[in-house]
Amino acid sequence: MFALNYHLYAGNALLPTENRGLHNALRQVHLKTERFNLNGFAISGLASYLQVPEFDFGVDMGECPISAVSLNHIFLTHAHGDHSRCLMRHHSLRKMMGIPKPSVYYIPENLVENAANWIHAEAMFEGVPEYRFQLPKIVPVSPHKKIPLEYRKDLMIEAFPVKHAIPAMGCTLYLHKHKLKDEYLRCGTAEIIALRKQKVEITREVFEPLVSFMGDTLGQSLLEQKHIWNSEILVTECTFLDEGEEEMANKKGHTHLSQIVQCLNEFGSEIQCKKIILNHFSMKYSEKHIQEALEKNIPEAFRDKVIAFI
Ligand SMILES: [Zn+2]
Ligand SMILES: [Zn+2]
Repeated sequence: MFALNYHLYAGNALLPTENRGLHNALRQVHLKTERFNLNGFAISGLASYLQVPEFDFGVDMGECPISAVSLNHIFLTHAHGDHSRCLMRHHSLRKMMGIPKPSVYYIPENLVENAANWIHAEAMFEGVPEYRFQLPKIVPVSPHKKIPLEYRKDLMIEAFPVKHAIPAMGCTLYLHKHKLKDEYLRCGTAEIIALRKQKVEITREVFEPLVSFMGDTLGQSLLEQKHIWNSEILVTECTFLDEGEEEMANKKGHTHLSQIVQCLNEFGSEIQCKKIILNHFSMKYSEKHIQEALEKNIPEAFRDKVIAFI
C-alpha cells in the first residue's frame, strides 16, 4: 500500500515513502452530533473503531485506545483484523484496570465459534494457564433481531447483513420507548391511572433509529438495506473516491463514492438522516483530496449533511 504513497511523491526523492499521503495516521477523530459524540478512527486496511460514549457503545476494535476501555458494549461488524484485532485487548485492559463489570461483545453468530477459538489461542499464546482462562461475555447476533443492550435497557441493537469480501454485518442502534396509544392521548392523569389499574394496555412500543453503522460494505447494500436511511445518523464507509476506481471498489467489497451519490439521488427526500458520516477512506488519499471529492460529487441538497470522518 505504501507503494501508492511512493507513487504520489515519487517526484521528490527527499520525501519519505510512508505517511505523506495518509490523511490521518491513527489520530482519533471527534464529531459531535445533536444527541451524541462519535469518537474513533477508520482508514481502510489500517484500523477501524468507533465509540459512542453517551450510549455506552462501540463498533469494532481495530485499535483499543484508553478512551474505549470504559465502554461496556462492543459490536463487531466482521472478522478482518483491522476491525477486530484489539477486541481482546479491550477485555484485558479492563481487567488490568480493575473494572469489575464484564463488558459484552456482540458478535455475528457465524463468527462466534472462531472468535472463541481465537480468544482462547491468544490467551494460551500469552501464557495464561488453562484453569484461569475465562471467555468474555459474547452475545451471538443474528440478523433482523432486536437485542437490548446489557446495561442500557433503553437501547437495542439490530444487525443486518451487508455484502463484503467476507461475511459482515451492519447494525442500527434504537432508542426503545413506550408511547401512549393514539386513542388514549386525550385522557387525563386520573383516567390513565384507572386504565392502568384495570391492566389495559395503553402504550405501544416505539423504536427510534438513532444511528446505523454499515461497517465494511459494498455500495449495493446501501440500496438493499433501505431502512438505514431512516436513522438519525448514518455512518457508512466510502473507501474509494475517484473515477475509474468503481471496479476496484467492487472487487474489494467496498463502497465507491458514486454509489453513495446514487443513493442520495435515488432516495432524495425520503432520506431521514440528519447527518451522513463517511469514513474508512483508502489511505492513499490526502485530506484535501477527500474534501474536494465530496464537494465535487455530493448533490447540493446534501452538502451540509454529508461529513467526512477524518
Ligand atoms: Zn475495513
Ligand atoms: Zn473488511
